[in-house]
Amino acid sequence: MSDELVLRGTAAAPGIAIGPALLYRPAVTTTDSAALSADVEVARLDAALASADRVIQGLEARLRETGRPDEAEIFVAHRSLLADPSLRDRAITLIIEDRQSAPAAIMSAGEEQAQILIELGDPYLSARAADVRDVVGQTVRILRGEQALVDQLTLPAVVIAHDLGPSDLISVPRERLLGFALVAGGLTAHATILARALSIPAVIGLGSELLDQLADNVTLALDGSSGELVVSPSPERLARLRGTADEQAARKAVLWERRSFPSITSDGHHIALFANAASPAEAREAQAWGAEGIGLLRTELLFLERPTLPNEAEQLALYQAVAAEMAGRPIVVRTLDVGGDKSLPAFPLPKEENPFLGWRGIRIGLSRPEILLPQLRALLRAGAASEVRIMLPMITTIAELRQARALLAQAQAQLAAEGLPYTTTAQLGIMIEVPAAALMADALACEADFFSIGTNDLTQYTLACDRTNNRVAALYQPLEPAVLRLIAMTCAAAQRHGRHVAVCGEMSGDPRYTALLIGLGISELSCAPAALPTVREAVRATSLVAAQELAQAALAAGSLAEVRALVGEVHAT
Ligand code: PEP
Ligand code: MG
Repeated sequence: MSDELVLRGTAAAPGIAIGPALLYRPAVTTTDSAALSADVEVARLDAALASADRVIQGLEARLRETGRPDEAEIFVAHRSLLADPSLRDRAITLIIEDRQSAPAAIMSAGEEQAQILIELGDPYLSARAADVRDVVGQTVRILRGEQALVDQLTLPAVVIAHDLGPSDLISVPRERLLGFALVAGGLTAHATILARALSIPAVIGLGSELLDQLADNVTLALDGSSGELVVSPSPERLARLRGTADEQAARKAVLWERRSFPSITSDGHHIALFANAASPAEAREAQAWGAEGIGLLRTELLFLERPTLPNEAEQLALYQAVAAEMAGRPIVVRTLDVGGDKSLPAFPLPKEENPFLGWRGIRIGLSRPEILLPQLRALLRAGAASEVRIMLPMITTIAELRQARALLAQAQAQLAAEGLPYTTTAQLGIMIEVPAAALMADALACEADFFSIGTNDLTQYTLACDRTNNRVAALYQPLEPAVLRLIAMTCAAAQRHGRHVAVCGEMSGDPRYTALLIGLGISELSCAPAALPTVREAVRATSLVAAQELAQAALAAGSLAEVRALVGEVHAT
């Protein structure tokens, strides 16, 4: 009998890590030795803030030197969090009025800020609470003379912690951090984003029992793709996981060799393979894996780190940076899509009863032309030197498309009058993610230059099923015949008007669905850069004829189960 224990969390960064556990417990209490005089505590606080700033500056420099300028920006943001006067002022008030010590005061002040971010109830802003805790934790460690993760991790290990900050990940040598598992964590937290960028396997959201169930040096096997953390794995499981890790490495090497193979079906039909991106770094990865362009640049994620929305010149520089990474290939840039589950520090949204049905996407852009117009101007200017296609999110009616086109014409007229270089041939396309748009695709195809189907939202709106609500997760299925019929309807309408149709929702990155989408009439797939190689293989493995037969059978299906059986999706009931 094996004593292994299998814990299940959320898969955060793929890969397999096997090794001894290291339990990392950074400063978490606010009890400290009694404060000395207020003057002494304030002086200690200022010295620690200055030295934390130097440490963060060092991490930023290390990332720039190793060619990771986007990741370095995280630490630029950390330095401004640390320099925020409200943080220092609050800590000083606690030192003077409550006679707290410097570490206790800065920790309380930081925790207050983190709680405010969490209570806003927005996943992106909650994830920023981890950044505040990270910079405050560093300051506290300096004040207490405590060891940071980099000092504790002297040998290779799988790190177990309540949460980690991006500075923890960057300061440790990569070969010592085999992987990590967290009690908390968020899929959009910076530690998770960095883990994916640096290929560090990770599982998050394992719950507070995690730290009680483990001891230092116990053997762990972590699978960042399945979200499993196995404590004291049996010899059979270890052999199996090692085999999987070897297979993954070998498969990746083969796919890398085939990265420039054309994306054509076995009977010779080209399916354009584009990538989704939210930063120049992702565009670079997409280009390395042979993407033919960027099919969805989510600009709201590009602006996530900023305290204010970037002005036209700053946006122009960002779009040019993405275009430069793609070396002349087209980029499809979606105008700001905030609302629903996404808000920005630079654009906090009013609370609504039904945010997904509320002020979101193009609805915000059209009612706030002072936001949409500079973005359209920046895109037209970026299009002067490379192919930039403009895409509108959440179009519901043709009136919205017409209003946006009028704004685009206004932007062109302004640029012409100002004598600035801009493109006169930019395509203006729309996302099809609201059922009304799919049903009216015939009319929309007369006026939109292209369609891109956002299956993430099309699924939630078709099935009346909040994509972020776990209670209805079982109902949220893009393979439901109702969703497939709307995709087919959109493709048929587009074909009648000679428009091309892409899919840029998550569905496009799953190779099990590639043939089905091709058969439904999709001519472009845009997926995460990491999914490009397997989707390319899936395109090459099917013929258009077989894909069309599969799609016809799926459209005739009366239930999800029938479609699943057709695409060979194994599902535990
Ligand atoms: C979609 O809805 O499928 C989509 C690509 O947009 P987002 O996920 O950003 O809402
Ligand atoms: Mg969407």
